Amino acid sequence: MKKIKRKQVAIIGGGLFMVGFLLILLGALLKQFWLVTIALLVLLAEIIFLVVFNRCPHCERYVGAGTYCPYCGKRLDE
Ligand SMILES: [Zn+2]
Repeated sequence: MKKIKRKQVAIIGGGLFMVGFLLILLGALLKQFWLVTIALLVLLAEIIFLVVFNRCPHCERYVGAGTYCPYCGKRLDE
């Protein structure tokens, strides 16, 4: 699988989260619940994206936020 740099993963993941969050707000304000449905799909896509790509570049295991891998202890931004 093609690897994406963690910086890009953070940007894309954050972007998807913002879009989903704004759609939920917009849907709630306008009482357009199809917007909320789309927002939930966007957030679901964000979670899947993070699970797939938010991995340690050294041992390939899933990692959350942080500078060092909790599994192999190496820096995540190398
Ligand atoms: Zn690792």
